[in-house]
Amino acid sequence: MVEIKEIGEVSTEETSPGAHSHITGLGLDENLKAKPVGDGLVGQEEAREAAGIVVEMVKQGRRAGHGLLLVGPPGTGKTAIAYGIARELGEDVPFVSISGSEIYGTNLSKTEFLQQAIRRAIGVEFTETREVIEGKVESLEIERAKHPLSPYMEVPSGAIIELKTQDDHRRFKVPEEIAIQLVQAGVREGDVIQIDVESGHVTKLGRAKDALEEEEEELLGVHAVELPEGPVQKKKEIKRVVTLHDLDMANVRAGRLLGFREEEITDEIRQKVDERVQKMVDEGEASLVPGVLFIDEAHMLDIEAFAFLNRSLEEEIAPILVMATNRAMAKVRGTDEEAPHGIPGDLLDRMLIARTRPFERHEIHEIIGIRARVQDIQLTDEAHEYLTDLGEEKSIRYATRLLEPARIVAEKEGSEVVEKKHVERVEEVFTDVSDSVEYMERMRRELPV
Ligand code: ATP
Repeated sequence: MVEIKEIGEVSTEETSPGAHSHITGLGLDENLKAKPVGDGLVGQEEAREAAGIVVEMVKQGRRAGHGLLLVGPPGTGKTAIAYGIARELGEDVPFVSISGSEIYGTNLSKTEFLQQAIRRAIGVEFTETREVIEGKVESLEIERAKHPLSPYMEVPSGAIIELKTQDDHRRFKVPEEIAIQLVQAGVREGDVIQIDVESGHVTKLGRAKDALEEEEEELLGVHAVELPEGPVQKKKEIKRVVTLHDLDMANVRAGRLLGFREEEITDEIRQKVDERVQKMVDEGEASLVPGVLFIDEAHMLDIEAFAFLNRSLEEEIAPILVMATNRAMAKVRGTDEEAPHGIPGDLLDRMLIARTRPFERHEIHEIIGIRARVQDIQLTDEAHEYLTDLGEEKSIRYATRLLEPARIVAEKEGSEVVEKKHVERVEEVFTDVSDSVEYMERMRRELPV
């Protein structure tokens, strides 16, 4: 049980959420047509519509053994679309992203690595009655303290939060673990949130209707929610999603506590977990939630990994497999055979293929604008144009990553708005990945070791 104290005053605080956190769906209309900008996604209409059709197949239980292959140049938002598929299916639907080359770098066998990824991408939803505090954030003050292990880092150490429902209005002091979640989830005034009193878990339910700007709803697909009714603190039926992998790991830990020496997940453990989950599903206590397994650089997988994936697509409960590649014809690793996209025919036959294309300038402009908005960073028009130039010349990833550093530089100069000169300043000190690689190659040539 975490300690949440009710108290009697307060300002605001924010941070930058994860790279794809602005994406809340695929931005399609009822006919599965892509809006130019919707749910945080910009452009790539063809691939988004293809993804939307796959989502519909999944919802109708008709995807039987199929997956989606996204083909397009790097930095054209393939990961972003795969993430959109998961969000389109539901807020708690698992999304797991791996890269084909990752299967070689770990101490797990290739198939074990994939098996874990698959089980991280399958959720189990439980419904429980929990004690929660819930309401619209009227005000939020994050307290900061020195990091216990580092004298120069400041971390959230607690928060004072004021929550309001239609009928109630209370103020709480919450501990560090909840403050960290509030910061990570980018919670701000006007959001409707729920805190599980027992576990301290924070869920963002959406934005209160009166706090939502029209633009946010249209472009970012942020959910408008009504003010909750009743008291701020109450018992509620809550849906909770854990993954099969979480349950496997919980069993490994439980085994260790009982003195078993197993450090790894064994087939036996998985079987036990599957049986228990099946029983709960049969008894109506839980349901399975297949999520999205995204494999970038799919051509880096080898024949053994492909065979494993092929078999797992046939399982009764399998995640939605979305693969991405930028290769044309390529050798299937582990064989001498050339194949389209380096993917063996039997797996490729199961994939629906959609293309992503390079972004147009106005789309890059829009994406940078969206990222700045979710990170609460104000840009002058000139800075926005300049970042768009960088997005075009280098990559969107590079341009969006400069937002926060530029904000820091602006802040140090006492400016609340990021200007072109602040972006130029950070541009002098940070390099994009192709420049850093080129630099090291040149260094190697010049300074042979
Ligand atoms: P890829 O997987 O094709 O390399 P990606 O999805 O990883 O591309 P990035 O280049 O990393 O895309 O994207 C940089 C930022 O732009 C991320 O914040 C990402 O969410 C966002 N982004 C990419 N594509 C879109 C899109 N179509 N609409 C909105 N945001 C996008």
